[in-house]
Amino acid sequence: MTTWLQCDACSTRFDLLEPIARCRQCRGLLALASDLGPTDLARRFADQGSCSPALRRSGVWRFRDLILPEARDADVVSFPEGNTPQVQRARVAEWAGCRRLWLKHEGMNPTGSFKDRGMTVAVTHARRLGARAVACASTGNTSASLAAYAAHAGLLGVVLIPAGKTALGKLAQTVAYGATVLAIRGDFDACLDLVDQASERLGLYLVNSINPLRLAGQKSIVFELLEDRAWRAPDWIALPAGNLGNTSAFGAALQQAHALGLIDRIPRLAAVQAEGAAPFARSYREQFAQRYRVEADTVATAIRIGNPASHDRAVAAVRGTNGVVTMVSDQDILAAKREIDQAGVGCEPASAASVAGVRRLVREGTIGPDEDVVAVLTGHILKDPEILLRDRGDVVREIDPTLAAVEAAIASAGQR
Ligand SMILES: *Cc1c(COP(=O)(O)O)cnc(C)c1O
Ligand SMILES: [Zn+2]
Repeated sequence: MTTWLQCDACSTRFDLLEPIARCRQCRGLLALASDLGPTDLARRFADQGSCSPALRRSGVWRFRDLILPEARDADVVSFPEGNTPQVQRARVAEWAGCRRLWLKHEGMNPTGSFKDRGMTVAVTHARRLGARAVACASTGNTSASLAAYAAHAGLLGVVLIPAGKTALGKLAQTVAYGATVLAIRGDFDACLDLVDQASERLGLYLVNSINPLRLAGQKSIVFELLEDRAWRAPDWIALPAGNLGNTSAFGAALQQAHALGLIDRIPRLAAVQAEGAAPFARSYREQFAQRYRVEADTVATAIRIGNPASHDRAVAAVRGTNGVVTMVSDQDILAAKREIDQAGVGCEPASAASVAGVRRLVREGTIGPDEDVVAVLTGHILKDPEILLRDRGDVVREIDPTLAAVEAAIASAGQR
């Protein structure tokens, strides 16, 4: 059994251990491919026989056979990650108009976003390759995750972020974990171009969302989500969509789970963009006839991306799952976030796009009110404290240090 890298565009194969970020022939994106037969894989996976007890505690490495069968226990750089909760909250379901709405909270990963699921695999691979440094361009969460896993692995971490455009929690984490942080005077798309060039020139191992190992790790969100439901597929899975790596990973995971017979039908994907950063939603409306590049602007910094790197793969994911792509306004994102936050769950703005998208799709009649829907919350509430206080700061009331003032304040709070 072997796993190799294969170009999406021209199908050229490369050895798994080649330290390349793109196809050498045509610069196309690379994916992991394996010759392991479906029945083999299903059997191996079912008994999880190849996983040590330590790895079984990771919500990523438990699924090693579906992700990177070659990873050796000794190479794995794991927190562990994953094992995130899937919860129901009446308040959020009611707001979205969808009775059977589940929230899968990926913000409960070690560094507070789903990025850890890809990073554990990518950094494991970087160490196996003997890389000295790992690098990425990021809107923030990838940086935080890279910084933490690089520290764990003893590698140098280098991150390129758009100057002044990164949520405070993410920047603070990245600095604290000890990465080298370069704030670029440009947008995310400029950072991505730069790090792409730098990785080739300076020999850094690139762990952007086009990295096939990261995408492979992110498939575990879907495997875990399905496993938690005893492999009974929901009708829909909704997620925020920015650079489209996760949309692509979800599509690949669903196809794989179906091909292996782990699920008997494929849930539909609902990819949700912010109105101010919706090149993919725009393309979808035209049956993907063209690809767009926009000047991105939204409060949801994690999806403020104008030229999504994984566009083609995400098209395949949407088509392959009979999925849809929609967009929601910043106002709707913040309204969804208020519901999620006040249900005691909480998430960062980009994550709330998934729930805002479900609401829109229910209102438009695309999602039925009785359908079974999982909305993925991608990041933790504390990632973006500035937005929280900008949007809800008026709730904090300063009063005199007297019992009378406390009593009056509580009485008026009760009336609201
Ligand atoms: C990275 C990220 C996204 C977007 O995922 P893509 O793979 O870029 O589409 C959404 N939400 C959060 C919190 C993220 O960190
Ligand atoms: Zn190629």
